[in-house]
Order: sequence, then structure tokens, then C-alpha cells
Amino acid sequence: MPVCVSCRGEYEALPRETEEVREQVLACTRCGQDNRRWHKWDTASGGAHFERFFLRSIPWGYLALISFLLPLLAVAAADSIVPVASVRIGVPLAILLIFVNVALLYAIKDSLWRYDVLSRVGRGFRPSLVALGVTFFVLALIFGLALVFMMEARADDPEARPTEGLVRVLTTIMLALTFVNVTLSAMFLAAHDYSNWLDREMPQPIFAQERRLLDVIEAGVLEGIRRATGKGDQGVTTTIVELERCRDGGVDLVISAEVASNEKESLRKLQNWKITTNRWGRTKKMSQEGPQQYVELPTSDTDGADQGEEMEDDEDHGTAEQEEAEVIWERDYRSQSATCVAITSSSQHWTE
Ligand SMILES: [Zn+2]
Repeated sequence: MPVCVSCRGEYEALPRETEEVREQVLACTRCGQDNRRWHKWDTASGGAHFERFFLRSIPWGYLALISFLLPLLAVAAADSIVPVASVRIGVPLAILLIFVNVALLYAIKDSLWRYDVLSRVGRGFRPSLVALGVTFFVLALIFGLALVFMMEARADDPEARPTEGLVRVLTTIMLALTFVNVTLSAMFLAAHDYSNWLDREMPQPIFAQERRLLDVIEAGVLEGIRRATGKGDQGVTTTIVELERCRDGGVDLVISAEVASNEKESLRKLQNWKITTNRWGRTKKMSQEGPQQYVELPTSDTDGADQGEEMEDDEDHGTAEQEEAEVIWERDYRSQSATCVAITSSSQHWTE
């Protein structure tokens, strides 16, 4: 099954005749996101993806491709470099690392987009793609300049011998990393351009769409509470009491769930639930928090106008029944829970 661009849920992508039906089919069953544009892009050819990432990013995409040839500059300047670092080892090492890094970053380009979005909406230290690109460029400059200064120092001293041992190993690695960091810098900046294009063209990930994220979380939480309490669709209502975004883009929230009581139609059981979700709105942990409380709804609200009139006609009888019920409920709650729920009124909140 194809995966929703917004929430990583599944959507159905069967070929359909009309655009109208197709729109319906390509909507995510979990978050409702329209995946038509994403589906078209996700199923586009590899050439289209390559063109969008490398050839539409000027100059960074081109620099990333050209960077495969940069280590050849070291071959051209081998006479100057050899006394400081090994060109024979450094250049193949650089080309190998460049290939691995380009292939890896290109393979995770969509994840880099989500990372970039998260760096804008999430909490905590998470450098953006631009910041990473600049950092690797500065590192390339530092390594390159360090090698140039070492080469100059040796050029000024005709009796200096080539570097040896651990120093030569380190300078050879620096030589390779100088070129690799240029590639990494170009790749991150090209990924930033690609990320900007996805921002404009595609639906945002769900952790950047708070309303949709809360809808998905609420649906999952409701299902969990219904299963925990054995209630049907109409038996549970929820209210968000507390909400905090986590560092990973997920949500910590406290939800107050109002559950219809099995024993009495007008009675509602209130329970707070503490829920932790990941950035896609999937529940990681869900636990009851605090004591249960009970609310008894006004009789007219639950029984309707007709029954309310009946109650007025037979007020004495109704009051006597309610008092009897209160006694029963008070005994039951005290036996069920050590939190000592007390009845304050037949139609008011029963508080701790
Ligand atoms: Zn979805």
C-alpha cells in the first residue's frame, strides 16, 4: 500500500475512471489528506526525481555532481601535496566517500524534507539544512586551508622530510574530507532547495498541521478509551485539558474523557488520560491519571421534554427515587475506589 505523505498512514491507490472518484480514493483513510499530488510525484520516474533534486537546484545540485571530479585537483597538485599527505590513498578515499554520501542523502531526500520541516516547528536544537550546508562548507575550508599552510611551510623549508606515521594518516584523511565536506555542503543546500519545492507543492507532514494532528490523535485515543471501557461510538466524549509539543515533534497531552455509566443513564464518569504520541500522531503511551470523578446530568437533559413533564407531574415520587439512587451510588463508588467520591447533589458534579 502507498504511504500518506502527511501522516505515514496507508491510502488506497487503485486506478479509477474519473477524477472525482480518484480524489476520494487517494484520500488518506487515517488523516483525510488528499494525496493526489504526492501520489503523482511518488510514482514519477527516477529521472524526474533526479532532475528535480540535482538539475533544478542551481548551483548546489550541479556542484554536488561536479564534486565527484574535485579530488582530481589533488592529483593535478600531487607534487605539492605528496610531502604532506598521501594522494594515492586520499583521492580514492575521497571519491568513495563522496559516492556514498551522495547516494545516501539522495535516497533519504524526502526524510530530509521532513527533518527540515521539523527543525522549523519542533522544540530543541535541530540545525536546518542550510545551517548544515554552511557548517560543512566551513569545515571544508578549515581542512583545505590547514593542508595549504602545511604545504607552504614545507615549501619554504627545502630540507623538510615528508610527513610520517600518524601525522600522515591524519593529513591524508583531512585531504579526503576537504572534498567530501564540499559535497556534503552542496548536497544539504540542494536538499534545502528540494525541501522548499515540496513545501510549495505537497501537503505538509502532519506534525506541522496541528489541527489535523490533534484530529488523528483524538481518533486513536477515543478508540483506546472505547476499548478500555467497552463503550460504543456514542458512549465517550473527550476534551483536551493540557497539551505540550515534545522535542521529537510528538505531543504530550492530558485528555478528560466523559464515559456514559453502565449502571445509570444520566450518570457520566470523568477520567483524565495522559497520552504521549510520536510526531505522526501514533500513541506511544496512554495511561489513566488522577481519580475518577462522576457527573450526573440533569434529568431533563437526558430524558427529554416529555419525560421532564412526567417528572413534574410526579415530583415527590421522582425525588424519592433519586435519593434512593444516591445512596446506592455512594456506596458503590466508595467500594470501587479509595478516592472517596462524594455525592453533593443529584444533578450537580460529584467531586473528590
Ligand atoms: Zn494520512
